[in-house]
Parts: sequence; C-alpha cells; structure tokens
Amino acid sequence: MNIILLGPPGAGKGTVAGNIKSELGIMHLSTGDLLRSEIKKGTELGKQAKELIDQGKLVPDEVIIGMVSALIAQSGEQGIMFDGFPRTVAQAEALGKIAEIDAVVLLDADEDVVTERICSRRICPGCGAVYNTALLNGSNVCEACNTELTSRADDNEATARERFQVYMQNTQPLVDFYEKADVLCRIDANRTSGEVAENVLKALKDIK
Ligand code: AMP
Repeated sequence: MNIILLGPPGAGKGTVAGNIKSELGIMHLSTGDLLRSEIKKGTELGKQAKELIDQGKLVPDEVIIGMVSALIAQSGEQGIMFDGFPRTVAQAEALGKIAEIDAVVLLDADEDVVTERICSRRICPGCGAVYNTALLNGSNVCEACNTELTSRADDNEATARERFQVYMQNTQPLVDFYEKADVLCRIDANRTSGEVAENVLKALKDIK
C-alpha cells in the first residue's frame, strides 16, 4: 500500500507517520528528513537545500524527484508512506509514473494552528524525537535520551507563515489533483495528534 500524507507544514504529517507506520507495516519517506540529513552530512545537495529551506522556499522539483525516485527503486515490494512529497503538480505527475498511489490523506489545519505548532516544536538532535513545549512542563531535554532539545532553523513565525503561503500556492492544487483521481480523504488535523492518528487509521481501513 502506498500512501501520501498531504497538508500544510505543521499539520502533523511526521507525527502521524511515526504513530501509524508500524501498524501499517510500511516505510516512512519524509523528503524534509532526507534533506536535513544531507545538510547534516554537508553534501553539495545539502548546502543548496539549506538556503532554500531556511527561507521557507521549495527545493527544485528535479532535485526532489531524483532523490525520491532512487529511494523508490530501492524499496522493493514494501509500501511507502510519503510525507512532504509530492509538494507540486510536477512532483505528483512524476510520482504517478513510478508508483501506484492507493490513498492520499489530507491533514487539514488552519494557518494559525499550524504556525503556533511550528513555533512550539522542539526536536532532539540525538534521537530525532519531536516535542511540543506545551507538553514539556518547562523541561528542555529529551525524555528518551536526555539530549538537550533544539528548534529547527525554519521553525520560526516568519518562515512558518512563508511556508504556509508556499503550500497554498504550490501544494494546495494537489487536493484537486487527487480528488479527481478519487483517492483523497480529508482529516481534521486541528485536533490532538492521538485523535488525528486514530482517524487516519480508520480512514485507511475503509480504503483497504
Ligand atoms: P518538511 O520537513 O516537510 O516541513 O520540509 C522542510 C523543507 O524542506 C520545506 O520547507 C522545503 O524547503 C523542503 N522540502 C521538503 N520536501 C520538499 C518537496 N517535496 N519539494 C520541495 N521542497 C521540499
């Protein structure tokens, strides 16, 4: 089963994927995580991507499509949950040529809700765990590995609002694209992460 998680930045795509991937037994492919790993390794691709990511802009389609195509080719028979990809119609068309998509889950959330979530997101540089300051009770260390938490460089209000505009302009058209293909289901992502994950699983069970 191949699934796309669609929705604005901060809608909770990564959190939902983390919560349900083992239940579904499929691989989680986050283009944002892949790019951040290139930045960490200091590769040429990482250097180019960092500048765009820090401004809230999209990395060029050909770079992203090349990166994802290589991973799909290596994934064998295992299903994939795409998170943060596709983000443009050109990416969706390229994906359609190399993989069959069974369901597209739109995590629908308001600009103010996602901006607030992004600004209060903290990440663990040690193990990658993601937290919200509202649930940390003033602590700033990872519960799993005790590493001091940090924020992503693009997780500030100005960049979050820019990313939302970029989403509306480039990615929102995919809602129509996948609605026409009759694979779209909408989930209210203004709710808690637990409720959202539960509703996504319910929606996917109906599709299977
Ligand atoms: P994310 O972790 O999904 O919020 O992605 C962080 C940033 O990585 C985005 O704001 C973009 O700059 C870049 N990015 C991630 N996925 C894509 C994609 N499919 N197409 C273009 N840029 C991407």
